Amino acid sequence: MTRRVVLATHNEHKVHELRQILAEAAADLDLEVVSMAAFPEVGEIPETEVTFAGNARLKAEHVARATATPALADDSGLAVEVLGGSPGVFSARWSGLHAGEDLARGEKDRRNLQLLLDQLADVPDEHRRAAFRCAAVLALPDGTARTAEGEVPGVVVREPLGENGFGYDPIFVPEGDGRTLAQHTDEEKNAISHRGRAFRAMVPVLRDQLG
Ligand code: IMP
Repeated sequence: MTRRVVLATHNEHKVHELRQILAEAAADLDLEVVSMAAFPEVGEIPETEVTFAGNARLKAEHVARATATPALADDSGLAVEVLGGSPGVFSARWSGLHAGEDLARGEKDRRNLQLLLDQLADVPDEHRRAAFRCAAVLALPDGTARTAEGEVPGVVVREPLGENGFGYDPIFVPEGDGRTLAQHTDEEKNAISHRGRAFRAMVPVLRDQLG
């Protein structure tokens, strides 16, 4: 029996990654994965919590209620050690909200990434450790919510490299790797990424709650 689940994000890059991750990790589940494009009446959800898990839960619960459909959300970001874990939950807004400015997502990503590079300009290579973190939440219309988390450790390099992915991918090199995430193929990134790890950890929960 086909199970419908809606991805509670307006970020097309994330939709693309999550579809690929779930297609591979939950192939036996017969999931019909729909995006928010199927629910144009549900707008952006303000991320007012200060943890990844809190924000992911906010988004998943809101969308599950508004659409009467099981909803999967993620909240994610880059935590830089020397900055005490920032940008963290503020990763998408690090260079400001740009309210009223009609900036493309790519331009916001570029400004966020540049600000972070400027802030770390004097930080020597041995102190540039960071991790991408992700919390995934499945919320059901009856109010049930379950969380899974994933992370990928690495370092922030000095110059953007690579064309794939989004956000801070061009300046993040995973531990034990010589390339930025933006130099990885989609499949390579999904195999090691924070989002890949969190959503693979969510598969048994999906099987249990929807299956
Ligand atoms: P969210 O949509 O509130 O979860 O914000 C996530 C933000 O964190 C994005 O806008 C990016 O700036 C950053 N981010 C999260 N995941 C990734 C990733 O896989 N690659 C690069 N940047 C990411």
